[in-house]
Amino acid sequence: MSDQVRVRFAPSPTGSLHLGGVRTALYNYLLARHHQGSFVIRVEDTDLSRNIDDAASRQLNDLKWLGLTWDEGPDIGGDYEPYQQSKRLDLYQSYVATLLEQGKAFYCFLSDSELKDLHSHENRQLKSPHRDLTKEEVDQRLKAGAPYVIRFRNDAADKVYTFKDLVHGETRLPANMVGDFVLVRSNGHPVYNFCCAIDDHLMKITHVLRGEEHLSNTLRQLMVYESLDWKTPSFGHLSMILGPNKKKLSKRDDSAALEDFVKSGFLPQALLNYVALLGWSSADATEYLPVEQLIASFGLDRVHKSPAMFDREKLRWINHQHLVRMSAEHMHAALVNQVDAKYGKVDAKWMDLFWTSLSQQFYTLVEVAETIDLFSQGMKMPVLSLEDSEKNVVESFKQGIDQVDAIYIDPEIIAGILSKISEEQGVKGRKLFAPIRQALLGVSSGMEIKVLGSLLTKEEILNRISQIL
Ligand code: GLU
Repeated sequence: MSDQVRVRFAPSPTGSLHLGGVRTALYNYLLARHHQGSFVIRVEDTDLSRNIDDAASRQLNDLKWLGLTWDEGPDIGGDYEPYQQSKRLDLYQSYVATLLEQGKAFYCFLSDSELKDLHSHENRQLKSPHRDLTKEEVDQRLKAGAPYVIRFRNDAADKVYTFKDLVHGETRLPANMVGDFVLVRSNGHPVYNFCCAIDDHLMKITHVLRGEEHLSNTLRQLMVYESLDWKTPSFGHLSMILGPNKKKLSKRDDSAALEDFVKSGFLPQALLNYVALLGWSSADATEYLPVEQLIASFGLDRVHKSPAMFDREKLRWINHQHLVRMSAEHMHAALVNQVDAKYGKVDAKWMDLFWTSLSQQFYTLVEVAETIDLFSQGMKMPVLSLEDSEKNVVESFKQGIDQVDAIYIDPEIIAGILSKISEEQGVKGRKLFAPIRQALLGVSSGMEIKVLGSLLTKEEILNRISQIL
């Protein structure tokens, strides 16, 4: 491939960015960056009834949050602006006029009930009887203000459109899969399939990489290209992403929205890494791949034909891989930005100690945050009922701590206190650790007592123990 690669991500502002959309955006981005090409964002918003206010800017913000950058787009302009279809209506209009003039498109005045009748009587795709109205008949109806749509005249009866799909190879789409499809709606707005083909051509897009649910759109778009005598870009259709129930992970699936993954504490770099693996693998099957490595190794030759399986455990594992490699400082910033600004108050030195001691146990930011919360000063402890022997252990621990002169107590000093109790009271293992852990944190977490004790101030340890006793 030359350095002429131009690809695009073309979201419709009809909702949130979902995992499938993230994958489409990411593969296009990786392809562009790998080949030093251009990555374009184009907002496809001509279906007014489905547009949601803000959805476009929210989706673009999500892409930015993920760390994806683009070279041309509605927010930054570019050589082929505007990059928002609702601002290009005049342009589409001129191509519709050309097609009407050449008899490749026609006015169709069928009412909804006529259309319904036609569909129920003819068990095939619509060939509108209005395709053959004379110019006079059309003018008359237009003059009388009859409502209409403009349809593409699909005359390709037995033709089969073939192309080499970038993912699936030789692909055949029989023309009779579609009828005389609509190009311009009754409200005067052109449809996605028309605008998309026009824009991909005018914006010099070389590769159209999108989900396989768009295959039948590709057929319509191939017809539009042909009718205007334009060369087509290369098309690639990404296989489905299946959810845990083996059904397609759908846009309606709440858990598939990016914002849910953000809330659950997955890092942007880990999401990119994981999503890249939903339908692609690196040559040596490496799975921990920061984005620079994704860019270096991405290629269409290893995009899989078979559906990808969404696997939350694997996502957690990848998140863990990214998380443990973060410095305390970066983790601190991620907590503040992604979970809650309140973590800005956490002391940087404490954070350093916390992260050095415990980072290995975490899989998400939310887990990190919840564990930090366990250390907050002045915590109100749950009511525990300890047996006498357990109370003795906790009591001795308290005495040991009381004798140390420090704000934070060194882990080794805490270890010394524990051995002394063990020796004096003849307890060890769970019998020794469980009550102290409960007294310090209120949960029987697996953290080592010497570590968790060193992360609480002496004052806080004593405060918690006296609540329990
Ligand atoms: N606007 C379309 C969508 O959001 C994009 C399809 C395409 O990439 O051509 O599904």
